[in-house]
Amino acid sequence: MNEKQRTKIFYNDDYVLDSGVETRTKAKPIADLIISEGLSGVELCSPRNATRQELEEVHSLEYVDSLWTGDQNLLRSLLASTGGVLDAVDQALTSGFSGSLSSGLHHAKRTHEEGLCYINGLVLAALRALNVHGLTDVGILDLDAHCGGGTFQLIGNDARVRIADVSTNSYDSWKSFELRHRLKIVRDAQNYLSEVEKALEHLLGVQLLIYNAGMDPFEGCSTGGHPGITREVLQQREKLVADWCRHNNVPVLFVLAGGYKGTHLDLEGVARLHLLTINEFAN
Ligand SMILES: [Zn+2]
Repeated sequence: MNEKQRTKIFYNDDYVLDSGVETRTKAKPIADLIISEGLSGVELCSPRNATRQELEEVHSLEYVDSLWTGDQNLLRSLLASTGGVLDAVDQALTSGFSGSLSSGLHHAKRTHEEGLCYINGLVLAALRALNVHGLTDVGILDLDAHCGGGTFQLIGNDARVRIADVSTNSYDSWKSFELRHRLKIVRDAQNYLSEVEKALEHLLGVQLLIYNAGMDPFEGCSTGGHPGITREVLQQREKLVADWCRHNNVPVLFVLAGGYKGTHLDLEGVARLHLLTINEFAN
């Protein structure tokens, strides 16, 4: 394969925090699978660290201070995995597709961590696309099982950003009367893919798609898992999103978001779910 056609996906071992929480451990087995399975056309790249100034664009000074003076291993993980999202913005706008093996973003609020999310990299990515790259219409697609209330709090008032959120659980739900915002909480798995299609229709015309590609709607996940949402359904979901981006010529970057072990799902199984995203987009 031609070197310049290879998709750059951002990751380094600084992302990983030996915490027992999948949010901060699963990037490593995913990176290992990308290498061991020789995913064609994918190249792992080490990102820059996010800066303190960048974090302060969306989080309060007091909160950023507390991260800076707190657990240094956590801080290292946050700066690397947030930097990866920002590098993925630049890369997606250059080559059409990129991603970062980052998770734990969409519940983070201005002043605090919430639901395992510390830094809202989705919002930072949107701000980079708007303020550094000069875009005027950016879409955030959030297909994590839980709602992205942090994202809505931090960028819901920006008319240049459209949000489409399809969830299977009402945790961190949000409400808006603006037409540019769409939240649907799916109760019946039969309706899941058609709601994803409606979310994509809602985003038609965006200049960049920021995709929070959570795998926790999978029925085998202990957190978020929804009966009837199988691996096959999630594979179809990833194909819908990837085909939509190709068909409409929309540059896209993904991040991992949720995806948790369950009684019959180990960490490698979680990692293999996330590979569905990379396989569909890199094909
Ligand atoms: Zn989730």
